[in-house]
Amino acid sequence: MDYKQYIRVIPDFPQPGISFKDITTLLNRGDIYRQAIDELRVMVSDLKIDLIAGPEARGFVIGAPLAYALGVGFVPIRKSGKLPGETVEAGYDLEYGSDKLAMHNDAVKPGQNVLIADDLLATGGTISTSVNLVRQLGGNVAGAAFLIELAELNGRAKLPDVNVFSLMTY
Ligand code: AMP
Repeated sequence: MDYKQYIRVIPDFPQPGISFKDITTLLNRGDIYRQAIDELRVMVSDLKIDLIAGPEARGFVIGAPLAYALGVGFVPIRKSGKLPGETVEAGYDLEYGSDKLAMHNDAVKPGQNVLIADDLLATGGTISTSVNLVRQLGGNVAGAAFLIELAELNGRAKLPDVNVFSLMTY
């Protein structure tokens, strides 16, 4: 399946020089959205996974249906200050801007195997921070799954010891 035909590429958004990969056009197609999630599920089927963790907001759109398909729990990774319970936090930079991410400190139990899911791997800042959070709680990072990987930004270099899976590469 050529999923790229369902991705809308918008040049210079949200700032000059960024080629934005808009996944809303894929999400809009129920059959293609389901097929993409099913294909990710097959790609990670050899891993032992107890939980999926996804960073807001687009990590929810990929991570939650994947968790449902696998029959495992979903852990939201949110911007600092949004989660109501006690959290662990870590800072990060992304392709544009920087921020802090948080996870409930009881969301992952030591030894649990966590797959991290997001829409897109760019510089890897978001996902390496998510990896840090999971590991702070004693979780094992089973892998990281994406719809899209921007190869030239080499996000994989920030994830040297993580299995990375992606449906599309630009
Ligand atoms: P990074 O931390 O640099 O790997 O950035 C990943 C996050 O930023 C993803 O959650 C994406 O939602 C968003 N993002 C970064 N670059 C792009 C892009 N070119 N097109 C669409 N989303 C992007």
